[in-house]
Parts: sequence; C-alpha cells; structure tokens
Amino acid sequence: MPIYEYRCEICGKLSSFLLLRASETIEPGCKYCGSTVVRRIISRVTVLKSEEKRLETLLDPAKFSDLDENDPRSVEQLVRRMGRELGDELGEDFQESMEGALSDKPSSLEDV
Ligand SMILES: [Zn+2]
Repeated sequence: MPIYEYRCEICGKLSSFLLLRASETIEPGCKYCGSTVVRRIISRVTVLKSEEKRLETLLDPAKFSDLDENDPRSVEQLVRRMGRELGDELGEDFQESMEGALSDKPSSLEDV
C-alpha cells in the first residue's frame, strides 16, 4: 500500500495520503491549511535505503586500499576520515564510539 507524502509549501507541514487502490487517484493538498501548493517528498524508507547505500559506498574496499590493518595509526586515520564524512548525520555519539573503540586497543600498540 503506497503512502504518498507531501510537504506544504505554505505552512511546511507534512500530509500523508494512503492509496488504498491502485486505481485511486489523489489530489494532494495540505491537510492543515488547505493549500494545494505541495511538493511530493521521498518517503522515509527510501531515504534510509539511500543512506545505507552511502554507507556501503563509504565502506567500499577500494577506499581501504591504503589501509594497513596492522598499523593503528592507519586505522585511526581512516576512522577519523569516516567520522568527518558521516559526522553530520550520525552525530557525535558515533564519532565518540568510533574513537572509544580505538582507545580500547591494547596499550602496547600505542607506542608503535
Ligand atoms: Zn499547509
């Protein structure tokens, strides 16, 4: 059952329209202010999928070509690079957990 979502260009609120039958047509409009100036928006599911896709791209092995798993500094550089690329969306928690994971490494590696 497809759900169409429209954002009102006037008041900015979202209106969802559930299409019960394929033959059914909808006349999108704002449920809040009655405006018909609405823009179709991509559903949340689609957004999430594209975000996953972006993560996949980011984790593309080709990007890891210069990574030396045995060199903690090399790993750290990569993690920081990923943190910068994803930081805005995943927030500081992600960066902290990534950096926290790094600091969990055995202290003997610190001096390498
Ligand atoms: Zn509106």
